[in-house]
This record gives sequence, structure tokens and C-alpha cells, in this order.
Amino acid sequence: MIKPALQDDAFLSAVRDADSQEDFFLWWLGQSGFLVKWRGRQLLFDPYLSDSLTRKYADTDKPHERMTERVVHPGTLEGVEVVTSSHNHTDHLDAETLHALHETNPGLTLVLPSANVEFAEDRLGENCPFFLPVDVDETVASNGFSITAILAAHDDVKLDQQGRSHFLGFVAKFGPWAIYHSGDTRLHDHLIPSLIPHSVDLALVPINGYKPERRVAGNLNGTEAATLAKQIGARIAIPHHFDMFAFNTETPAEFEREAESLGQPVKVLQAGETWCSSELASIA
Ligand SMILES: [Zn+2]
Repeated sequence: MIKPALQDDAFLSAVRDADSQEDFFLWWLGQSGFLVKWRGRQLLFDPYLSDSLTRKYADTDKPHERMTERVVHPGTLEGVEVVTSSHNHTDHLDAETLHALHETNPGLTLVLPSANVEFAEDRLGENCPFFLPVDVDETVASNGFSITAILAAHDDVKLDQQGRSHFLGFVAKFGPWAIYHSGDTRLHDHLIPSLIPHSVDLALVPINGYKPERRVAGNLNGTEAATLAKQIGARIAIPHHFDMFAFNTETPAEFEREAESLGQPVKVLQAGETWCSSELASIA
């Protein structure tokens, strides 16, 4: 099992000590989960901090064996006011993670696709955070973060009867900064045009997509992820959606190779490692 760079108490004290008026801090929590800290406020993207999928698929032909140890117990994360769920799959909407997080943070707000509200109510039961639903091109604001929904295709665009998307990505803005979190997506016609106007500083992109030897795609592959970052003008891109489950992973090598040939700055994080936006200053 891969050990996170920082785990449990060491991770929590790094988050607590991260302090800047100018810059934000970011930690990869494994899979598509990221914690953002900006001027003392915290936003969580799509956290999966449990073993619920390993248990759900134990003794089936689809075992979800964890490759990386959990970075931190969600119930120990204090001061989190906003959390996102980009779609209903359990690695992006995990009841066990959200219940523990909500217990510690009773004022927690969950930003989720409007099309998924009923499903999320069913999955989370009575112990729901406050829901802040959003659909494509709409923007909601919570605790100093403004969050705009971006259409995602996982594999395809899927709309409900009212035309609302079940799959989203998010652009989160705070102070002078803009972060794009892809959710799970492949390229589609609207993706690049809808992201360019946001002047994204940091793009968080999946890399476990199509390979000839793999039947399903689901997400961008490394080449596509690096290309997307370049085409939207992201100052830097960080890959996600790998090293969590043995049956569905990828190495970042292809992503790094393509980024280098495109001249796209990227950073491959270890789970639990601290990244600070001050590192952008060293990029031309
Ligand atoms: Zn996923």
C-alpha cells in the first residue's frame, strides 16, 4: 500500500499551520478528493475518505482494493464549510465520508448537481448537510467560495427530464484565484469554450481514461488531460483519479510526457502532500 506523504495527525497539523494572506494551499486526498485552504477557509472537492467501496465490492468479481492508505479520517477535519460532489458515484458521493464530516462540521454545505438532489437525499438519509444545488453555467456562493458548474461527460453527457446534468465539474473562485475541478469527464464540445473565460490558474484533471487495452474510458487519459490544461490556458495542472483502486488506475507518466511536449506546467502530487500557489511564481 502506498503511504500518504502526510497522514492523520501530521496531515492535520500541516493543514492547521498553512497560513497566507496571498496564497492558497491544496492537498490531494486520493482519487478525486482535494482540500483547499484560502485565508483560513476550507473547501473540499469530492472527498472519498473511507473503505465503503472496498466493503461493497468484497467477494464480487469487481474487488475495489485500495492502493493508497487513507490520508485522514473525515471526522477529524475541522473548519470545513463547503464540500462538493460532482456526480453520484460513490468515490465522489460517499455517505460514510460525508456523515463523518458533517458530524464534525454541523454547518456543512454540499454543492451538488441539481439533477442529483433526490439521489443524494436517498443515499445520505436524514443526516444530510445543507444542499446547495447547481446546474451547468450556474454559480453559487458559499463561505467566500464562488462555484460555477461546468458540464461533464462521464462517458457521455447525461441529462434528467428537466435538462439538468447528472455529471458536473466545478470552477471555484476566491480572491484572485480560479481552480477547475473536472469531476469525472471526457472531452466534449462545450468543455474548452466553457473553461477559457474563467482564466483557470490550477486545473485538477483525471488521467485514468481511454487506453486501447482497456474497454471503458470514463475519463480523460493522460494525453487528453495535458492537452485540455494547455488549451484552457491553465497555469498549472495536477492529475487525479489514480492510485486508489487496483482495477482502475494509471501512472502519471503519459500525462507528464505530453505536458512536457506541449510546454504545459504540471505537478504530480503524492496523496497528503502540501501544494501552495506560491509555486506558480517560479513558472514563467
Ligand atoms: Zn470517479
